[in-house]
Amino acid sequence: MTNNGDSPARVRFAPSPTGHLHLGGLRTALFDWLWARKTNGQFVLRIEDTDRKRFDPESLESLKNGLRWLGLEWDEGPEIGGPFGPYVQSQRQEIYREHAQELIDRGHAYRCYCTPERLASMREEQRRAGKSTGYDRHCRFLSDEEKRQRESEGAKSVIRLAVPLEGVTVFNDLLRGDIEVENRQLQDDVLLKADGLPTYHLAAMVDDKLMEITHVLRGEEWLATAPIHKLIVDAIGWEMPVLVHLPVILDPSGKGKMSKRKKLVAGKEFLALVHEFQDSGYLPDAMFNFLTNVGWNFDPEQEVFSREEAIERFSLEEINPSAAALPYEKLDWLNGLYIRELTPSALKSALLPFLSRQLGVSETDLISDRKLDVLIPVIQERIKRLDEAAGWIDWAYQDSDAISYPGPKLLIGRKLDAAQSVDMLRSGAQLLTEVEPFSAKAIHVAFREKAEELGVKAGSFFGPVRGAISGKKVSPPLFESIEALGRQETLQRIKHAVAYLEAHGATESG
Ligand code: GLU
Ligand code: ZN
Repeated sequence: MTNNGDSPARVRFAPSPTGHLHLGGLRTALFDWLWARKTNGQFVLRIEDTDRKRFDPESLESLKNGLRWLGLEWDEGPEIGGPFGPYVQSQRQEIYREHAQELIDRGHAYRCYCTPERLASMREEQRRAGKSTGYDRHCRFLSDEEKRQRESEGAKSVIRLAVPLEGVTVFNDLLRGDIEVENRQLQDDVLLKADGLPTYHLAAMVDDKLMEITHVLRGEEWLATAPIHKLIVDAIGWEMPVLVHLPVILDPSGKGKMSKRKKLVAGKEFLALVHEFQDSGYLPDAMFNFLTNVGWNFDPEQEVFSREEAIERFSLEEINPSAAALPYEKLDWLNGLYIRELTPSALKSALLPFLSRQLGVSETDLISDRKLDVLIPVIQERIKRLDEAAGWIDWAYQDSDAISYPGPKLLIGRKLDAAQSVDMLRSGAQLLTEVEPFSAKAIHVAFREKAEELGVKAGSFFGPVRGAISGKKVSPPLFESIEALGRQETLQRIKHAVAYLEAHGATESG
């Protein structure tokens, strides 16, 4: 019953809204989506929210937002509906209850009336006797009379799966082949809780069937419970979908499993949550490219590929079941690459929220800001993440009087003293008053000629001017920066720097 992509697959991403979406979850969704697109099938989003204690409404938004950010639009699911809805498990309680009852009727499940106190003392006893802990099947063998008695007392109950006491359960994982487990190692797990809500085991199996899911891609951590799932599915008389347990994603040290929280490796913090990657300025296309290669490989010879190419080539059989490390440097490298491929106007739009937040300038002001248009191509060559842009251009958004110099040294040219540097700044100002047009190119030519005329090295002449306009030693290319600032503002800053140097620089030299 494997499906090699010749018939449309129905694949679901079934997150539990108990926290923010992390990269491992996003990778599962991505592989779901790729397989659905590859087979011209459907990508279904199902919300598994039956654990009401851990439910976090904010995380639902975070999940949907993360999927949309990566461009993984679902074909069926919350908000858009579909033929197998509702797609939120808390709205499907009746369905699970019916199936749990059916399992009881067929002798594959039973009510357990044990109180939390009884279960606790049972575990305590097991521990003391040095046995492994687990439900002792006490209620599985109650007589009808005893059951009636409990019911008439109004005792609360859960419904448990009656795991066969002997024999083996075999299930298939597409990547690992047949896996056999002895039934006596399995527990009579709870299917329906006392609050009437199903556990994951029951709800997911019922929904996978009713939603006609053909392929289940999920984290490797579910491998251990797969026999229980097989037993449930067998008990109802259904067939298992194709199971693909995806490899664990390791943290950057390559040792621990990626957790939902940030990891510190070699003194560096690494991101793990999808919204953190968004907030740091990774582009969805770069992330798409990157994640596609975590646990699967497009082509060892080709690092960069489009979505269409990935869909075309993706295959479940080629997923590597061993743990996959997350090469963050590669993500940065890819992101820089994708940034450089953007048109200036696309980059500008992508940068707006970052610059607005980091520079404290409104997006509307930035949209009409001429400086930014000049600086965008300059930024584009230098950043790997959108949140790095502000650091390159923040000086351009300071008030000229507010520019603060870390000390006179910044304004002093190599091999010059303060007085000579003041002369350089004045010559620069003179030149900038006259140069036409006020473009990077024309300014560059004029500066070079001037340096020659003055008999100084270009660097000695440019250095003080760079310091004057940016307050920094390193800034984007000088002449683009000057063009961006404009004549007035540049002259203003040079004037400011001259005053500073005359007041503070008397004994300094460069
Ligand atoms: N609700 C489960 C989770 O969030 C889904 C596992 C599965 O895909 O079956 O981990
Ligand atoms: Zn019991």
